[in-house]
Amino acid sequence: MPLMIYIVPGTCDYCGCCVGVCPEDAIELLESDIRIIDERCTNCRKCVWACPWEVIEFHREGISHLPKELSLPQEAPPSF
Ligand code: SF4
Ligand code: SF4
Repeated sequence: MPLMIYIVPGTCDYCGCCVGVCPEDAIELLESDIRIIDERCTNCRKCVWACPWEVIEFHREGISHLPKELSLPQEAPPSF
């Protein structure tokens, strides 16, 4: 089954609400990173309903075509 759960890049505030409701322990939340462990996820959508900020989306067609985490521009070194 393809993963259908998508975390919109750059919008999570790492509150942890989704982690608590996942029955498969399929959400890995670090201090400033969140990801779905696709081998565990059953696409049950409990995390989608639990997120207060609508960060997690359900895509029936799978998420492989959606952009991965946006890479933030590196801070430019100071120039003197
Ligand atoms: S869809 Fe279900 S199994 Fe997958 S991460 Fe969300 S709560 Fe966990
Ligand atoms: S519930 Fe939403 S905002 Fe909170 S950690 Fe999960 S994805 Fe991020």
